[in-house]
Amino acid sequence: MNNQYDFIIAGAGCAGMSLLLRLASDPFFSSKKILVLDSDDKTVNDRTWCFWEKDPDIFEPIVHHQWNELDFFSNHFSTVLDIAPYKYKMIRGIDFYAYVKNAIAAAPNIEWRKASIKKPLKHTTQNLAGVELTDGTLIYASFVFSSILFEPIQTAPSDYHFLQHFTGWEIETASPCFNPGKAVFMDFRVGQEQGTTFMYVLPTSTTKALVEYTLFTEQLLPDEAYEKALRNYIGSELQIQDYTIVHREKGIIPMTTHNFPRYQDNHIYIGIAGGEAKASSGYAFKSIQKRTAAIVKALKEGRSLAINKSFSEKKGHLYDAVLLHVLHYKKMPGDLIFASIFKGNKASSVLSFLDNESDVLTDLKIMSSVPTRIFLPAALQEIVSQGKR
Ligand SMILES: Cc1cc2nc3c(=O)[nH]c(=O)nc-3n(C[C@H](O)[C@H](O)[C@H](O)COP(=O)(O)OP(=O)(O)OC[C@H]3O[C@@H](n4cnc5c(N)ncnc54)[C@H](O)[C@@H]3O)c2cc1C
Repeated sequence: MNNQYDFIIAGAGCAGMSLLLRLASDPFFSSKKILVLDSDDKTVNDRTWCFWEKDPDIFEPIVHHQWNELDFFSNHFSTVLDIAPYKYKMIRGIDFYAYVKNAIAAAPNIEWRKASIKKPLKHTTQNLAGVELTDGTLIYASFVFSSILFEPIQTAPSDYHFLQHFTGWEIETASPCFNPGKAVFMDFRVGQEQGTTFMYVLPTSTTKALVEYTLFTEQLLPDEAYEKALRNYIGSELQIQDYTIVHREKGIIPMTTHNFPRYQDNHIYIGIAGGEAKASSGYAFKSIQKRTAAIVKALKEGRSLAINKSFSEKKGHLYDAVLLHVLHYKKMPGDLIFASIFKGNKASSVLSFLDNESDVLTDLKIMSSVPTRIFLPAALQEIVSQGKR
């Protein structure tokens, strides 16, 4: 059959390219025919990823900046978070895309095609997955790894569906204004009337920082509201009047209890489409790395890719649902929840908890730092709701 591959990577963004680099770096896959499809050239710096990790992973060579200390500010509690053994790292989208494209440029088994995919396909007679392009071309493979959301997320009545939405400016100042050794992880000292709202500041030199205004709410704001909040914060809180905006970015990430299918008819859904954005924080980069590494391992070991969620992932989903429950029913404001958690626990424990990597004792300690009378009934309700999702 023409147009047949071993693997199709449908969508070459964070998840598609993470998987691609892992496959391309392993000689085990050098005889596999891989087709990469994306409607975009991936030449624009459209996002900046931040994440925390203990040990370097495959994208270490393109880490743009990293911090060992993070500030946490709120009207209830403020501190400097010592995050050891973690480091908080920043990777720029443009470096990420260029790095992966460069790494596969000479690989004879990998073909990159700029194409728009219309829909996923299942072969009628053979055990193959496929895609239909918008020009009508049909292409098949043993597996399609897709990070494309072909339809808007269909939530069930029992789901909570928040959006993490943000606008960021990278600003440059004429004189030194920043400490590049420390970033502001969350600054909740901004209006909370829309819901959980904070700023973060990521300085990469004494004169350059990315400042982002972020909300966890169910509705978006008008464009000018993000810009106004950034202007106010930079002027009043950071006390910077003289600056140039050198780069802008904005984004919307689903924070949802929706149960994303991960595997269907040899289509493996990865990235946001595979439910890898953490519902309580919107972070996805690290979980994408874990999942793509697990897929490569399973392929090498000849194991099924219908990998069920692990116990810690299921536990993490439950905790996320409890947080979204409390926010949805406005039982406790988000700034106070995060302040209570960071006040009562070591920063490294909170980071491992947010990564679904904490042990049960750490979980219990973190849970005891928020009011039981609010969180216990929410947890009991969510345990029941988990069965319906
Ligand atoms: C601005 C921004 C900043 C973020 N910052 C962070 C962060 O700091 N930390 C963190 O952990 N997470 C962050 N995230 C969340 C998450 O890590 C990113 O959204 C990440 O890019 C998700 O990876 P993905 O592969 O699922 O989607 P994407 O990276 O969006 O990749 C999907 C790919 O599919 C392609 N595509 C879509 N439709 C089609 C089609 N029909 N045909 C062909 N190709 C198609 C797109 O062109 C794209 O290349 C951020 C998200 C955004 C938007």
